[in-house]
Amino acid sequence: MTSEYEKGLQDAIKFHGHLCAGLAIGYMASKVAIDWLELKRSQDEELVAIVESDGCAIDAIQSMLGCSIGKGNLIFRDYGKMVFTVIRRDNNKAVRIALSADVFKRSKEENMIMKKAFSDDATEDDQRKFWDLQQKWINKILSTDKNKLFHTKEVHVEIPEKAKIFDSVICHFCGESVMEPRARLREGKPACIPCAENYTRGW
Ligand SMILES: [Zn+2]
Ligand SMILES: [Zn+2]
Repeated sequence: MTSEYEKGLQDAIKFHGHLCAGLAIGYMASKVAIDWLELKRSQDEELVAIVESDGCAIDAIQSMLGCSIGKGNLIFRDYGKMVFTVIRRDNNKAVRIALSADVFKRSKEENMIMKKAFSDDATEDDQRKFWDLQQKWINKILSTDKNKLFHTKEVHVEIPEKAKIFDSVICHFCGESVMEPRARLREGKPACIPCAENYTRGW
C-alpha cells in the first residue's frame, strides 16, 4: 500500500511504524519547511526544530528534517499544539508552521468512533472503523493545499545554543551519575532529580 507514496513519506512510515493522520501532518509540515527555507536535500543544512507537541507528527519531522533529541536540534515544548518552528542555522531563516484550526473539525459521528476505538471494550469492528476514519483523514491531509492546511510565516527566533558538554556529579542517594546543571541538593548532598523529588513529595 505504501508504494504509491513518495520516498520521504515512506521513510517516515518506516521510522514511525505506521501511517496515521499525525504522521501525515508532520510530513506535510516538513515539506512546507523544505520549501520556505529552500532546503536542498543533497546538502546537509543544519536545522533546529522546535515542536509544541509530542505526538506522531514529530516522528515525521525527525525523519524528514533530521532533527532529533539526541543531536540536540529537536526542542520539545509541551504546549499541546500542532506548531512546528524550523530554523536554518547557516542563515538564521526561520519559519513557523501552525496547523489550521479548521482542518480538524471532527463530526459527532467521528468523535463517537474515536471514543469507541479507545475504550477498554473496543471490538475489532470498532478498531477497523477507526482505521477507516484515519485513512480518510490521511487522504484529506495529503491532498489539501499546504496553504490551507497550515498558517505559515517567517519568524525571527534566537537560535538555541548547540548542545553543551557538562560535568557530571554522582548522586549521593542512588549512586548514579547526573549532569551538573540537573543536580539538586538534598540534605546538603548532591542528588539527582528523582531522588530529590522523592524526598520533597508531599510537602
Ligand atoms: Zn502514529
Ligand atoms: Zn539519585
